[in-house]
Amino acid sequence: MNTSVIALPDEAATLELGAQLARVCDSAAVIHLYGDLGAGKTTFSRGFLQALGHQGNVKSPTYTLVEPYALPAHNVYHFDLYRLADPEELEFMGIRDYFAQDAICLVEWPQQGEGVLPPPDLALHLHYQGTARQAEISALSAAGEAMLQQFTAGREPS
Ligand code: ADP
Ligand code: MG
Repeated sequence: MNTSVIALPDEAATLELGAQLARVCDSAAVIHLYGDLGAGKTTFSRGFLQALGHQGNVKSPTYTLVEPYALPAHNVYHFDLYRLADPEELEFMGIRDYFAQDAICLVEWPQQGEGVLPPPDLALHLHYQGTARQAEISALSAAGEAMLQQFTAGREPS
């Protein structure tokens, strides 16, 4: 499997990682965001959304489960499934409609929706490393491989 490991020394690095992935992201991409509370999933999402033109803050939609963003080039849905009691709740909220659209879906706590969520293109794992963080990005589809390749190429100094 194609995996990339990235050191994130501070919050700015997490925001920049989000921005860099946003720039190589196709429409209709699904990105799963794993990591403990405070690992930086929402920070990553803020960097991602702001790079696509969102101005202002990004809160995790902990109670509403999903927050839509209609941005100039993409529709983005930001999910936070932390409080999801049962993956079946996703069926009731019409999860298939979100994922059927030509939209980018960022999903915090995807393990909560296992069995109902469609498979992701990319999975991002955020880990604590002292007071800093480390990210691991894995490609899980052909589209994800292409995005990860473009992302890696963009980070290499030429
Ligand atoms: P999550 O959504 O995973 O619960 P948040 O993004 O809401 O986490 O919160 C992460 C916290 O850690 C924020 O206070 C943010 O400023 C901080 N943070 C984010 N990235 C880093 C980093 N690379 N190093 C140190 N602190 C970070
Ligand atoms: Mg969060």
